[in-house]
Amino acid sequence: MQRLIELIARLILAIFKKPETEPEPVEPEPLVLPHPENAPDYTATMDNVDINTIISTWLAEYDVPNAHRPYWLNDCNIILSQKFTYPAATIAQTKTVYVRPEWCNPGVIAHEVCHIVWYELTETERIGYENALYDARQTDELVKLAWETKTYMQTNIVEAHADCYRYLGQYMPDSLKKYYPRLF
Ligand SMILES: [Zn+2]
Repeated sequence: MQRLIELIARLILAIFKKPETEPEPVEPEPLVLPHPENAPDYTATMDNVDINTIISTWLAEYDVPNAHRPYWLNDCNIILSQKFTYPAATIAQTKTVYVRPEWCNPGVIAHEVCHIVWYELTETERIGYENALYDARQTDELVKLAWETKTYMQTNIVEAHADCYRYLGQYMPDSLKKYYPRLF
């Protein structure tokens, strides 16, 4: 009987015994921008780039709602062009985006379309965005990361608006999304 009690006691102890080694603490994942920058492709030319494929990739990767896709595909002109020396340019009044072949990637298109969006915001909305972005820089880790590492954002509020979407896309805080009509 004594031995049986000892056996049971040992069993109970074994069940509640802590494992010999503590599990290794899990390192937190380093924070990364959801849409990292695409390097320019210097093999790209006016002839070998299919901009429609790149536009479709942007619409898919940034999860642009289907209801708004016809606007970007049909009402705006996003075209391949070498007419500017810089990577891309947007004439918001005519809803025209010019992208050089080597810079024709989803991130650049995402940035440029924001200039069309910005042009259509009211003055009150623009001020609202500036305030919301300032707040998000204190409270949202991704916004903070983009602001600190993608310093082109600090150029002015128009570029900040464009690059915030370019690098964060659908992962930006809800407080900013309302300033991106037709993108969310
Ligand atoms: Zn820009």
